[in-house]
Amino acid sequence: MEKITISTLLQRELKRYSDRGLGLIFGIVWGLLLLKFVPPFARFIWPIALNFIAQYEVERWKFIFYFTWLFNCTWYFFINLCFCLIYKLEWKIFERSRVHNEPWPWKVNQKEWRKQLNKTLKVIFLNNFVIIPSLVLMQAQIFGTESTYSFEIEELPDAKTFFLQTTFCMLLEDFLFTLSHRLLHIPFFYKRVHKQHHQYNISIGICAEYAHPIEFVFGNSIPFAIPCLILGRKMHAFTYLLWNVYRVANTVYGHSGYEFDWVFSDLLPFMATARYHDFHHSHNVGNYSGSFIFWDIIFEWNKDYYKHYAKIEQQSKQTKTE
Ligand SMILES: [Zn+2]
Ligand SMILES: [Zn+2]
Repeated sequence: MEKITISTLLQRELKRYSDRGLGLIFGIVWGLLLLKFVPPFARFIWPIALNFIAQYEVERWKFIFYFTWLFNCTWYFFINLCFCLIYKLEWKIFERSRVHNEPWPWKVNQKEWRKQLNKTLKVIFLNNFVIIPSLVLMQAQIFGTESTYSFEIEELPDAKTFFLQTTFCMLLEDFLFTLSHRLLHIPFFYKRVHKQHHQYNISIGICAEYAHPIEFVFGNSIPFAIPCLILGRKMHAFTYLLWNVYRVANTVYGHSGYEFDWVFSDLLPFMATARYHDFHHSHNVGNYSGSFIFWDIIFEWNKDYYKHYAKIEQQSKQTKTE
């Protein structure tokens, strides 16, 4: 069995970057533009948010609750709508970034697909409109209704604080997500809970939040909330909102069935990309990580994935030489 060394890991990462070609430059430019324009945007938008809170005498915890809740739901459906367009248009520019060649479920059986879509929407509505509000109300009961996060304009984070806090959230959330995901694959939990999410063996954007409510609470919501609760008032509400925006976008993209060369977040080191999570859905083995592949490397949960792609590459090399 091949021994995984630091050099193997670095080679894989270098290949992941070089395979992006020109997209790598677009990704870097996109990342730099965000770094440049997000801080002035924060300074522009935050006084407006505070004015709104003062004018309508909204309690801060309610503002953060209603705003993130409504924004997340809208954001989730908006990104999925964009992917619907991409699925529908089938433009070459997008199709070349597909992570597999399997036909989409709606192309296989329209009737079955409609049934599955209805079921999916019901579960997503249940998770978003019943589970999330219940969790937030419980959180308010446990931690009090004093706002958990900082709202002061003077405390809007500088680039360093923002970077350190989001890195902390990403790493801890990834650890908790991976751990809960691995537990969900224990046959007892898999059969009763996680199997629902795996009804999609071809992952598509909308299935990102198609999960049994128990999974949605313990596998998604709690891992997301814990790092934010640990940071507490050290975290600015604006950072919290952006972390929400990123996480929702990333999970839909990770299930979309496309891996675009120009997406800046894929350039983060050791990122678990859409292709990586798609393998988990299509083969239902290993690749438990959510954002980064560290835990899969440490516990050797991603060996089958690399074996699978090594085989595919070998085959394509052979076809080229023939
Ligand atoms: Zn799974
Ligand atoms: Zn999934």
